Amino acid sequence: MTERLSGHTLMLALIATPIRHSLSPKMYNETYAKLGLDLAYLAFEVGQEELPDAVKAIRALGIVGGNVSMPNKQAIVPYMDELSSAAKMIGAVNTFVNKDGYLIGHNTDGVGAVRALEAEDIDVKNQVITLAGIGGAGTAIAVQLGLEGAKEVRIFNIKDRAFDAAASIVDTINTETQTKVTLEDLSDTENFYKSIGESSIYIDATGIGMKPFEDMKLINDPAVIRPDLVILDVVYSPAETQLLKFARENGCQKVFNGLSMMLYQGAAAFKLHTGEDMPVDYIRELLFEK
Ligand code: NAD
Repeated sequence: MTERLSGHTLMLALIATPIRHSLSPKMYNETYAKLGLDLAYLAFEVGQEELPDAVKAIRALGIVGGNVSMPNKQAIVPYMDELSSAAKMIGAVNTFVNKDGYLIGHNTDGVGAVRALEAEDIDVKNQVITLAGIGGAGTAIAVQLGLEGAKEVRIFNIKDRAFDAAASIVDTINTETQTKVTLEDLSDTENFYKSIGESSIYIDATGIGMKPFEDMKLINDPAVIRPDLVILDVVYSPAETQLLKFARENGCQKVFNGLSMMLYQGAAAFKLHTGEDMPVDYIRELLFEK
């Protein structure tokens, strides 16, 4: 690392809290080293109180870009000079680029999910997709499915704050894309299962399957699992959630966890930052398969 750094090295920053557990600095710094890019990526503990000063610092120090995570994804939106169409529709930024003090906000979370499916030769265009969960991840995925030409996105959520907040995002996607989006109550299990039966892809964006919900899954009837159903669970720790285990045991062959989604959202951010392609398989092996 020290061999790489010089007076010319440019910096990128991740601003969030808590952030010390993040894999992003390792993922990006390893990639800069691999591709010989004179860049360095650091994580900074920044909450909403520190956010205004952090944005000033980005401009003052010429930090060329970076990423934003909780609790700043929505809070940073007013500080951006421009937003990508996905970031505008989602109302949240996870990636920024600093062009000589002009800050452009992007959101690559949904792109990550779509590219992860594409890498498995699964195209979302013209597909009917059932999506459980319309929180942060679910919203980004729903918007990207709209931008990528899915035929229908049937969103199911429990009747909580996320459900209430989702009406406007559903309207936005219905208005601004060709995709038909609906929002229904996840507790109507019969309707939920029927929708999956009519879908080619099922995406679980609730986080059920991860701590503290590691013993739970939203599909509990083996009849819902078909061999040709594509299932993407956004959780990647554990690598096999109860849903994925149940689906595999019942003959589903196209079953994916959220690791590729995470890597591809990183790759999309990397492309925005550097103009180059991140070697996703190299990073996957380095970070997760050693
Ligand atoms: P969030 O809190 O914004 O949303 C959680 C969603 O789950 C909401 O829709 C909520 O209504 C729903 N939910 C909560 N409790 C539920 C329950 N008991 N039953 C059914 N639904 C319930 O969280 P988020 O930021 O959207 O993250 C969700 C998951 O996605 C987390 O596990 C997170 O780690 C994962 N994630 C993965 C990636 C990736 O790249 N793989 C990216 C972002 C988030």
